[in-house]
Amino acid sequence: MNGLRVRFAPSPTGFLHVGGARTALFNWLYARHARGTFVLRIEDTDTARNTAEAVKVIFDGLQWLGLDWDEGPLPDGGVRGDRGPYFQSERRSIYDRALRRLLDQDQAYESDGAIRFRMPRKKIVVEDLICGEVCFDCTLEQDFVIQRKDGSPVFHLVNVVDDLEMGISHVIRGEDHLSNTPKHLAIAAALGGTAPQYAHIPLILNRTGSKMSKRDVGASLGEYQEGGYLPQAVRNYLCLLGWSLRENREVFPIEEAAEKFELNQIHRSNARFDADKLLWMNGTYLRSLSVEEILPHARTWLQRSGLPIAKREPDYLKEVVLLLKEKVKTGKELVEWAHPFFQEEVSFQANAVKRFFDPAGLQALRELLADLSEASDFTSSALEARFQRLAQAHATPVRTYVHPARVATTGREVGPSLYPSLAILGKDLVLHRLRRAIETFAS
Ligand code: GLU
Repeated sequence: MNGLRVRFAPSPTGFLHVGGARTALFNWLYARHARGTFVLRIEDTDTARNTAEAVKVIFDGLQWLGLDWDEGPLPDGGVRGDRGPYFQSERRSIYDRALRRLLDQDQAYESDGAIRFRMPRKKIVVEDLICGEVCFDCTLEQDFVIQRKDGSPVFHLVNVVDDLEMGISHVIRGEDHLSNTPKHLAIAAALGGTAPQYAHIPLILNRTGSKMSKRDVGASLGEYQEGGYLPQAVRNYLCLLGWSLRENREVFPIEEAAEKFELNQIHRSNARFDADKLLWMNGTYLRSLSVEEILPHARTWLQRSGLPIAKREPDYLKEVVLLLKEKVKTGKELVEWAHPFFQEEVSFQANAVKRFFDPAGLQALRELLADLSEASDFTSSALEARFQRLAQAHATPVRTYVHPARVATTGREVGPSLYPSLAILGKDLVLHRLRRAIETFAS
């Protein structure tokens, strides 16, 4: 590792915003690209909101995305790296020392019980690695509070003290902090430190073009964790919110992004969050990753749904996932389609029943039942051949059998390819379901 040190410095608010996740990702990519150090620092000076659960949300989100950090707290209470764990709530003495120094140097003073920083009244230029030179006219800037009346230090102070103290070389953070940066440069200078280089990444906009807020649908990483998204797809999508590979490919492995990631290629313009594109990307990942890569996630989705997957052989689960992953865009959809494979009885969609279990459909089911009862080979290709022969024998298109068979065995009119589905369900269950559909709906 070299001297390059970046940090992700979230405030535990109880959820991880996609913007925060993207900030973490860009820091991680840059650290991995430059073989530097990625620090996790929890900015939890706001004691009212600071709960163990809120911190856990951050750990869970980062771990889910596969963004491992080199220094900072560990979820099990341990410390990664030989310093840390870097909870600001535990670093009060460090901030007190900095305050003392600013007071002694007359760069801060007490007023009404609080401590204010003497803001230099001049133009301050931020040399931002992404935004370029940004000049702030601070000639009318007020002195600002760095320690509240109740003795608690304020964000501007602790943020800068920690960046200096932790030897942070690059601050990569959201553009909403750009306007704070003159204050941060001034505090760093007053403390005699070398400020890090700043790189402010563009905002993420919602569908209507305003800044994506907490309240926007899809703003929380948790929605993707719970909604059956793959972390590989989400982090790939997050890469595109302000950065792209030169050759304009949109789907790429994270290792390639880390290899090619440069701060000066981050876009200046704001990025628009496109939920449909993320959904598309998730489907792409489901199809392109191997079943082995999908299985751990699929197991989580299915277990969470309460389906009794443990009753089945691991190979059975694998076959189902292999079949479904080609056709669905999310884990949520995969779970819906998986029901008939794990539940004892099929639950029928009313519209499917109405549409396909008319007298002709039920007649088709009877013919199918008689035919499949004779089958000794229940593989997908053998089943396909049987359906074809049956249709030919009755001079009717094969869909005459396919649709009622799908409804009888899965309860639905749309679903995964029929023949492999039947092969996975197996002869006994298929015959049982055909029989049951005929008995239930023939009256
Ligand atoms: N805790 C601040 C935030 O969540 C960190 C800002 C920074 O990265 O400097 O926005």
